[in-house]
Amino acid sequence: MIALSLAEIAEVVGGQTHDIPDPSVQVTGPVVRDSREVGPGCLFVAFVGERVDGHDFAQAAVEAGAAAVLGSRPVGVPAIVVDDVQAALGALARHVVSRLGATLVALTGSAGKTSTKDLIAQVLRRKAPTVFTPGSLNNEIGLPLTALSATEDTRFLVLEMGARGIGHIRYLTELTPPRVGVVLNVGSAHIGEFGGREQIAQAKGELVESLPSSDADGIAVLNADDPYVRAMSSRTKAKVILFGESDEADVRAENVRLTDSGQPAFRLHTPSGASDVTMRLYGEHHVSNALAAAAVAHELGMSADEIAVALSEAGSLSRWRMEVTERPDGVTIVNDAYNANPESMKAALRALAAMGRGRRTWAVLGKMAELGDEALAEHDAVGRLAVRLNVGKLVAVGGREASWLQLGAYNEGSWGEESVHVSDAQAAIDLLRSELRPGDVVLVKASRSVGLESVAQALLETG
Ligand code: ATP
Ligand code: MG
Repeated sequence: MIALSLAEIAEVVGGQTHDIPDPSVQVTGPVVRDSREVGPGCLFVAFVGERVDGHDFAQAAVEAGAAAVLGSRPVGVPAIVVDDVQAALGALARHVVSRLGATLVALTGSAGKTSTKDLIAQVLRRKAPTVFTPGSLNNEIGLPLTALSATEDTRFLVLEMGARGIGHIRYLTELTPPRVGVVLNVGSAHIGEFGGREQIAQAKGELVESLPSSDADGIAVLNADDPYVRAMSSRTKAKVILFGESDEADVRAENVRLTDSGQPAFRLHTPSGASDVTMRLYGEHHVSNALAAAAVAHELGMSADEIAVALSEAGSLSRWRMEVTERPDGVTIVNDAYNANPESMKAALRALAAMGRGRRTWAVLGKMAELGDEALAEHDAVGRLAVRLNVGKLVAVGGREASWLQLGAYNEGSWGEESVHVSDAQAAIDLLRSELRPGDVVLVKASRSVGLESVAQALLETG
């Protein structure tokens, strides 16, 4: 982060200093919440969690070099004490960000935030030093921690913003006000908590409402192919850039196809030129993510050729998202067990179908969580799509939702033999171990809570 003295930090967060012999000591290192990550010059943030109280690690953090602790009570070592640690962390992030010379790019959406954030970062960092959200740390704690990891050299700060309800994105944009805001899609992720798609659109649109006006260089990057996102054009004062396959999009993909290995290829059109892209990532859903990244990069001054090269070379920076591994015996495992929602399930099945041309394909799928009233219909639809795409065998893993997946497949065609329902991951592993043959392709995917990565890992160990 940019160096600040303990006295300055105390003032910014409105805290009391305790056990600080020298308030002019500078915090230079990152701000961290895990005492194992502490190094010299760090600020250690102590949260009281359900199981662990960060204050118990204050002593260890200072011994490891932390300049001080930011917490909610004195701990006998140098500390800045506040009533609300989360609010203090946010205030500090806001202060630091306002002093950075960096352009802030924020993105949200129902699916693909992390994938797209990783793409944007891999494109922008070719132009100038870029800091971006590690993994999926997109909430009220991860976001300020990421922002605080930026330094004087940082030119682009790319931040993933997640929402589980109305007002969440607005809160995050107040901590780190973006100049560029990207909305990817309005799907059904967390629809149970939100109450409906309109509410999800309302919540995601808070991002573009927060942007500066076009006169102040605010830019809203919106998905032209998603009617809910497109409609957000009327909720912003920023300049609107549309991306998508639609003819009206400013940044478009033409001649979109999947290569035989399931990787998307397309001709990228931006207002400043066109260039060909063949991605290293798997699954056609990445076309939309790549266009979002291209739109951001175009607006920040990159040429179509520069963008196309960067997108063609970009890899996955976050694990368990369409991670493709080939076993020595020629069985291919596609581990997409990080998470699942209806959109990403369908995209992953299409990628499996493309990769599996001429090979036996398996879809090992578990439940998609948090779908509320739409749960039955959505699981049913995924089961049906597996049949329509000619997936060789569906292995539905888990309880009630898995039975809906299987039933969807069964009802779509006379497909009873090819779909099975097993109770848990171990049963799926046992089944696959005995039935997989060289050359087979296996997709593993479910919501995070199902933990299906254990199936992918076990199958890789067998190979
Ligand atoms: P989270 O809310 O968990 O942070 P996220 O929005 O960051 O999720 P990713 O982690 O990028 O999303 O991807 C989650 C899942 O959605 C993955 O399985 C991925 O393959 C799929 N996915 C990625 N991009 C899209 C997209 N544009 N449309 C549909 N599914 C997508
Ligand atoms: Mg994410």
